[in-house]
Amino acid sequence: MIFKTNVIETVQRTPDIKSIRFEKPQGFHYLAGQYIFVTLGNGPDQMTKHFTLSSSPTEGFLEITKRLTGHPFANALASLSSGDKVSMMGAYGDFTFQGEYDKVGMLSGGIGITPLRSMIKYSIDKKLSVNIILLYSNRFEDDIAFRNELKNMQTENSNIKVVETITKPGPDWKGESGRINAEMIKKFMPDYMESTFYSSGPQKMVDAMVSLLKELGVPEKQIRQEYFPGYD
Ligand SMILES: Cc1cc2nc3c(=O)[nH]c(=O)nc-3n(C[C@H](O)[C@H](O)[C@H](O)COP(=O)(O)OP(=O)(O)OC[C@H]3O[C@@H](n4cnc5c(N)ncnc54)[C@H](O)[C@@H]3O)c2cc1C
Repeated sequence: MIFKTNVIETVQRTPDIKSIRFEKPQGFHYLAGQYIFVTLGNGPDQMTKHFTLSSSPTEGFLEITKRLTGHPFANALASLSSGDKVSMMGAYGDFTFQGEYDKVGMLSGGIGITPLRSMIKYSIDKKLSVNIILLYSNRFEDDIAFRNELKNMQTENSNIKVVETITKPGPDWKGESGRINAEMIKKFMPDYMESTFYSSGPQKMVDAMVSLLKELGVPEKQIRQEYFPGYD
């Protein structure tokens, strides 16, 4: 489906991550974790890129969340404001969650959180009986996108657990530090052999997560992955 929609509002998530919310057109359906194509600009300046919907199908708006790289598309997106019209196409992709599994492990870093935020919110709103454990890695504490929301989701839902790990922790950081590793998976996801894993984000990170899971003996059919090209 190709459609034009209006920006409702923007939400600064971290110093370099921003969400843009759009009106959800009537009849537009998608699954938690799917992506759309977003087109900005006109004529020779027109640019189209993939974006996962960080919103859940249970929410009344569409939301995409972009890392602001300073490149032309990122700048054009960052300058959108309420009422601006944007063209979209979608939704696509099979990196989705509709409640098929009882135990889900999520491994992500930075902007890779977008489909996972959609899936967690969907699970909560639909009251799915799924146990979700998210291991979320970021360089600095300030880089953690959706931080308060994820914390609240965990507080209000005993079947959601969020573990943050910081690779460049400050002196006051008391949580996990370093990249996601096998020890963290064993510690926080004791049922990892029976879990289905979702990993999304830059290719290097997703590949590292998949290798880690395979080394731990998690069967390949229990590993689902989505790459975001364009990030190192
Ligand atoms: C399924 C899917 C879902 C995605 N979901 C998200 C999401 O939720 N959020 C999100 O932020 N991104 C997402 N992405 C990635 C997104 O589509 C963009 O690729 C990404 O945001 C980078 O876009 P950019 O405009 O910031 O950078 P770009 O300008 O496209 O730069 C990308 C890379 O290319 C290099 N580059 C750019 N121009 C040149 C040039 N002329 N010569 C050489 N190298 C160059 C840059 O240095 C950089 O390394 C997703 C991608 C896919 C495929």
